[in-house]
Order: sequence, then C-alpha cells, then structure tokens
Amino acid sequence: MSDEVCFDPKNETLERGALRALQLERLQHVVAAACARSAVYKEMCREVGVAPADVRTLDDVRRLPFLEKTTLRDAYPDGLRLCGLDDIIEVHSTSGTTGKPTPIWVTRRDMDAWALRNARSLWMVGMRPRDLLQNCFGYGLPTSIGLQYGAQHAGIGVVPAGIGRQELLIDLIMDLGVTALCTTPSYGLYLADKAKERGIDLASDSQLRIGLFGAEPWPESGRDRLSAALGVDAFNEYGMGEFLGPGMACECPVKEGMHVWSDHLLAECIDPETCEPVADGEPGELVWTSLTSDSMAMIRYRSHDISSLSWAPCACGRTHPKIGRITGRSDDALSVGGLVVFPSQIEEVLLRFHEVANNFCMVIENVDNLDRLTLQVEVRGFAELTNEEREKLSKRVAAGVKATIGVTPRMQLSEPFSLPRMTSGQGKTACHRVDDRRTC
Ligand code: ZN
Repeated sequence: MSDEVCFDPKNETLERGALRALQLERLQHVVAAACARSAVYKEMCREVGVAPADVRTLDDVRRLPFLEKTTLRDAYPDGLRLCGLDDIIEVHSTSGTTGKPTPIWVTRRDMDAWALRNARSLWMVGMRPRDLLQNCFGYGLPTSIGLQYGAQHAGIGVVPAGIGRQELLIDLIMDLGVTALCTTPSYGLYLADKAKERGIDLASDSQLRIGLFGAEPWPESGRDRLSAALGVDAFNEYGMGEFLGPGMACECPVKEGMHVWSDHLLAECIDPETCEPVADGEPGELVWTSLTSDSMAMIRYRSHDISSLSWAPCACGRTHPKIGRITGRSDDALSVGGLVVFPSQIEEVLLRFHEVANNFCMVIENVDNLDRLTLQVEVRGFAELTNEEREKLSKRVAAGVKATIGVTPRMQLSEPFSLPRMTSGQGKTACHRVDDRRTC
C-alpha cells in the first residue's frame, strides 16, 4: 500500500499473523518488565498465581490480573512506574474526577510512539502537509496535546487553540484558512452556532474540510449534523487519559469502526459480568494493554466502555482490528461536557450538607449544543427557608459539586418527598438518580 493512503504503510498493513506474533512478543516483554520493575505489579501477579513465563500465547493474557481505577489510585503516584526519573520527559494526568488523579509517566520512547500513533490517525482521515489543524481540545491536564505531536510528526501545521474564547477560535479558523479541526462533537457544534451569530457559516465560508471528534461518545446521526454545521468530513476517534488520550483508535474512510493501533495496544472485549471474552463483533467492555510503554505497567486496564471488537478485514486495507462506537458504560459513569461524572460523587457532596434530604436527581440536557447539568435536591424544612437562605444553600452546594466533578450545576431545591422515589431492589439505584434528556 502506498504512503498516499497510510502514514506508516508497513506497520498499518502488517499481515495478521505477523501482527499477532508481534503483539505476543511485546506482551511478554511488558509483563516481564512490569514484574521486574514494579513491586506493585509483581505482587498483583503473585496474588493470582501467574508469572511472566506463563504468558505463552496471546490467549494467556486472560490469566493476568485486571487493573481498575482503584488499582491506579492505590499505586499513586508511581507504584506502576517502570523507570527512573532520569528517563521521564513528560508527566501527564487524568482528570482525577473520582479521587486522586492518575499521573501518566512518559519517556522519549513513549512520546515517539504516541506521536506516531496520532500521525497515523490524522493521515488516515485525510490530513496532509499543507493542511492546518486547529486543536480545540483542552490543553492543560488531561491534555490532547498528542494530536499536536502527531500532526507535527506528519508535517501538518497546528494551531494549538484549546477551548474557550470562541470569538478568537472562530477568527483563527476564518483568517488563517484552517482546514481541519479536532474537538468534542458538542464543542464543534457550539462553535458553528457562535459563528452563525456573527453571520459566519463555517460550513460554506471557511476552508474547513476535515473534522476529528472524540472525548465524548456520539451517535452515527451526529455525523451529518457535524458535516452540515462545519462543512467537514467527520471522523470519530477514541482515547483514554490513562493511555495519554488520543491516538488509541480512529476511524478510517470506510467509517465502520475505529482501527486500534494494535502493534502498540492490545484490546480485549469482555463480558463485564463474567469477564470472559465475547465473540468477534459482539458488544462487551473494552480492556486495554499498552504493548510498548516502557514507563508504566498499563496491562489489562478495564475501561468500562461498552463497545465491540472485530478482526474482520477492512476495505481500507489496514489489518488492525476495529472497535465500534462507545454505546455506554458498564458502571454508572456519565459523560457531562466531556467530563466523566458518577452519581455517587454527587451523593458524597450532598451528604456533607445536613440541610439536604436523601433524594436527588441529575437532569442532563443539551442546550445550544452544550451539556447542562441541573441538580434537583430535596431540602429539609424547605418551606420555612427564606429565598435568601435558599439562594445561599444553592450556591454552597453548587460550589461543592463544582470542586468535586468540575461542572457547576444549576440548582433546583424542593420539598422533601417531592422528587420521584427510588424503588428499592430494582437494580442500580443510580439509574433513578439520572434523567438524561440528551438526544445527541
Ligand atoms: Zn479501515
């Protein structure tokens, strides 16, 4: 395959057997390195009675222990680090939405692999030198700066715009002749709306032609909306903060799933209840292993993202397997404005306020293409409170929620027993605490 189609043709089209053999060789290497250099990981393997020598085939990955978010938290900050500080050139971090953030240690080799994976993705969706990519994901932590490194690795110019100050972002798109945009789908639509208010139709007035959208799941119906609003060919991409974010999986022009860069990452798809693998193409939870990181033992991390994994051949010619859209979470996490939010976090905050009664509801809506969280809370003695007291309580609760989840909710206080009751004994209580009214 020519490099017109692939940035890294040899590795993107490795024959399946060779790709699987490379995955096994790299898996054996990372497991051996993790057991040799991380006491935490070595102990985890000892507990389940497995040693590096037991990994003889790729199926043996199933004998290795899972990493959960709590595992990373317990190992905070460097229990899973596999190298000394003299090899570290960057440290990234997850958002820490559910407690301590997870620092992600990066060596030169990790950085080069990260840039390469992103370069492949950007090339795959059609970006080339002479394109100008505006990166409208947040800079800071967690970051999507990997897209910038990838673009630069491929010789594509980057405007490191970040988010916020939308007037400036729109000016840059228009005045610099920006041709490609990466951002969340909701922020992309928001920018298009803001431009319209100024009489600018980004679809027809700008030079935008490619859009790469990620960090929050979006349905297939969103593709037409994004194309119409921004005038772009819209592609989906997937990344997790624990694996440095973007550069894990991305759609090719066939647009039937996202190729996982499987010489660097081993994806499994399991039944979240039994933890057994599901059949090719069937829905399940994605589990991720970094095959090339020499700084972190990221082996069998449970994403709790529900998707599918298929090794069916793709018409684009790439041999790497594909994951489907993320259709949900195997836990009760929600994505609000691109941030992961758990109802249990809201509950924890509310418990600190003695005025607040037991029942609450999170109403999530899409207003002007941005997520809006409204927190309905029952308050003890609500009828006796003055408007001023209600206002004060609302502000204190909203500030507490903002400090914990990063989102400021609108507050609606009400009488005790005024919200719909939760029914006991019927599955997850959290389901009754969420009213998700978003359609896209
Ligand atoms: Zn393909």
